[in-house]
Amino acid sequence: MSKIKMQTPLVEMDGDEMTRILWKMIKEELLIPYIELNTEYFDLGLEHRNETNDQVTIDSANATLKYGVAVKCATITPNSARMSEYDLKEMWKSPNGTIRAMLDGTVFRAPIVVKGIEPCVKNWEKPITLARHAYGDVYKNVEIKVPSAGKAELVFTAEDGTEIRETIHQFKGAGILQGMHNTEESIESFARACFNYALDTKQDLWFATKDTISKKYDHTFKDIFEEIYEKDFAEQFRTAGIEYFYTLIDDAVARVMKAKGGFIWACKNYDGDVMSDMVSSAFGSLAMMTSVLVSPSGVYEYEAAHGTVQRHFYQHLEGKTTSTNSVATIFAWTGALRKRGELDANQELVDFSDKLERATIATIEEGSMTKDLALITSIEKAKVKTLSSADFIRAVRSKFDSF
Ligand code: NAP
Ligand code: MG
Repeated sequence: MSKIKMQTPLVEMDGDEMTRILWKMIKEELLIPYIELNTEYFDLGLEHRNETNDQVTIDSANATLKYGVAVKCATITPNSARMSEYDLKEMWKSPNGTIRAMLDGTVFRAPIVVKGIEPCVKNWEKPITLARHAYGDVYKNVEIKVPSAGKAELVFTAEDGTEIRETIHQFKGAGILQGMHNTEESIESFARACFNYALDTKQDLWFATKDTISKKYDHTFKDIFEEIYEKDFAEQFRTAGIEYFYTLIDDAVARVMKAKGGFIWACKNYDGDVMSDMVSSAFGSLAMMTSVLVSPSGVYEYEAAHGTVQRHFYQHLEGKTTSTNSVATIFAWTGALRKRGELDANQELVDFSDKLERATIATIEEGSMTKDLALITSIEKAKVKTLSSADFIRAVRSKFDSF
């Protein structure tokens, strides 16, 4: 059998610890035997980031902007413990933060749904994709601990010196204050990323804020989404047979719990932080969440939602057998290869990605899985085989070959 060819390189960002081990296994067992892998390789492992003064992260983001599709392994975000562990020159920034800033993207997270790993919410039949706005609000706030009675004001001074001034509160004693902001530019690119992703995946889009209470701040989010939708997307949504739906955040939460799934839920920064953890844990496991960063210009970067699984890596270093779930990392690859295939009209690559995903799901549904899933599966215990990291990937390969 001849291997599938790729016209355009895929940007490959290698990473750290246990996920770096899985990365190599996935390539060797599941990709290289079937595809003439054409990747532009960047080693984002912490050692190499340190050697290059983090230039490699910037180079990989630039390559992503050039080629349009990337796949990324989980990476360590350094903290003080990592400074000494890796003898770092500096506490390098989170690669995801750097890449997100350069791509100006929105992150979409979706669970991989398999029979046997049931969501806690029994009516959720299809995945719910969460789109989180990743700029501003409480994450870029300014706070004051008010020590005593006094007057708090909100003041904006334009470049020409004109002022807008509002009284926030006349304090009678000690209290607290918080100032937040967002920009029209950032909200617009968030809206466009969401509308484009809905079209791309043929799913309805829900968006919610608290505009009845926040009549200027949250209302601006609602208005910008509405304007962009009417101007550039309404027609395309009608043609695609999908819907854009706006409601209040509390109504959205209540409806999500009763819904069947199969839609994208766009959230402001804080709502997205909270709701993505709720949705992912209710779907079963962090190791079954995929994540894709989509820029407003249509550049895609795929990854697993989990980290480098440090605890398992230390076991691996001690020579112990690990049982680390590679599903989200496999799906990061298939997501990226499918998108590359779609952009290059390479149907073989699209079909390969679909088939590898089906093989991965079928492996689990037939009872072969890693320990994290074996602990929570509803499949009859006698039918469950708990596999090591390597054996699970080999099981996926034999399922793939059997199709
Ligand atoms: P983590 O790697 O997500 O792992 C936390 C725990 O979740 C693991 O110890 C394991 O639980 C379970 N888990 C996560 N993924 C799993 C998988 N694929 N298979 C089986 N179990 C899995 O988070 P962390 O340990 O807090 O962070 C480790 C490093 O990852 C940090 O340096 C952090 O900076 C980095 N990180 C990177 C990204 C990214 O690149 N996108 C995201 C998050 C964190 P048990 O120990 O109970 O088995
Ligand atoms: Mg969170």
